[in-house]
Amino acid sequence: MSDCHDDEDIITVEDAVYEMDAQVEESIAILGASDSDNCTYSLGYMERQALFACKTCDLKGDAGICYACSLTCHQEHDLIELYTKRNIRCDCGNSKFNGFECSLIKNKDLLNEKNAYNHNYKGLYCTCDRPYPDPEEEIEDEMIQCVACEDWYHSRHLGSLLPAEFHEMVCYLCVAKYNFLQYYYNEQVNTPDIDVVSVDKEKESKNTDSHFSLSDTLTNEEKQNKIKKNEEMCKLEKLKHQFVNLGNIDKNVSFYWNDGWRSSLCNCAMCLELYEKNSIPFIIKESDTITFYENKGKEKADNLLKDAANKISSMPIVQQVELARGYQELKSGLQNFLRNFPPNQIVKKEDVESFFEELNERKRRRVTNIPPNNCR
Ligand SMILES: [Zn+2]
Ligand SMILES: [Zn+2]
Ligand SMILES: [Zn+2]
Ligand SMILES: [Zn+2]
Ligand SMILES: [Zn+2]
Ligand SMILES: [Zn+2]
Repeated sequence: MSDCHDDEDIITVEDAVYEMDAQVEESIAILGASDSDNCTYSLGYMERQALFACKTCDLKGDAGICYACSLTCHQEHDLIELYTKRNIRCDCGNSKFNGFECSLIKNKDLLNEKNAYNHNYKGLYCTCDRPYPDPEEEIEDEMIQCVACEDWYHSRHLGSLLPAEFHEMVCYLCVAKYNFLQYYYNEQVNTPDIDVVSVDKEKESKNTDSHFSLSDTLTNEEKQNKIKKNEEMCKLEKLKHQFVNLGNIDKNVSFYWNDGWRSSLCNCAMCLELYEKNSIPFIIKESDTITFYENKGKEKADNLLKDAANKISSMPIVQQVELARGYQELKSGLQNFLRNFPPNQIVKKEDVESFFEELNERKRRRVTNIPPNNCR
């Protein structure tokens, strides 16, 4: 009978959930960790969240808008997708908005004093201060986000050729600003050719760059002992003495880091203070990475899909053949469904739910017409 299915065709919906195309997964990852119903204002300055800026609202200065507010308060507005940013409290409806009210949370402080903005909130990126996509630019270029300043850069404006693979990037402006990072140059994917010059310890003891000052009243031997002790306590001190004549590092080259570079940074009390003083305490935290954030989103999206799959497979009179068909429908349907959204538009939880409801409706109608059991 032509209606029969081979065993190979039979895949359960649960299998299908795990076989979802990477593309579909990707599109859920960034927003998956976000709450589509509740403004994040009450959660304060969040470690990381998906953020938006509004071109429609009449703003005094820059403002960051959370995911839920982008969906409700600014639904029909022209939004700039900012991907994710750290340490921002939702500005929607505060004094920057000239009387426009947030429909989710009414009583907000007039300003979020700790929010820091860059030109991304105006839709501009990179050292060239251009929009993206750029209507006046014909050559397409990849944009890379610096994990320190969070600005996005054209790969051609980062000072060196983009390596084929890397985990995170710190732009050359930030490498110069937080120059202690240069001592960790070995944690890059392509370690640059640098003349490694062992520093004369005697000379180094006068180095003002050090955490630790050495009193002039110490004898040479005492100084050497103290330096040795400092090096045992602090990896950065050790690196400073071990290697490098940093003068040989090209000042206009960005750093492309290996996976795990953050955990290679020293976390002694002095270094923690150094990160704090430079307002980058997040630099040693794995939970600050985009990868960590995306995995959180994927996990949440995965649970949502698993739930849906369970709902489908617990339906009455569902047979393997039906499930195989369900798999195809789920896969192509969800892809089409996501494809119908313009790139800047946001997919709501309700949208996904109604998609599954519709799918279930179709299945319910068809179970009255299943192929006979004796077909093989
Ligand atoms: Zn909000
Ligand atoms: Zn708006
Ligand atoms: Zn709002
Ligand atoms: Zn640029
Ligand atoms: Zn930077
Ligand atoms: Zn240290």
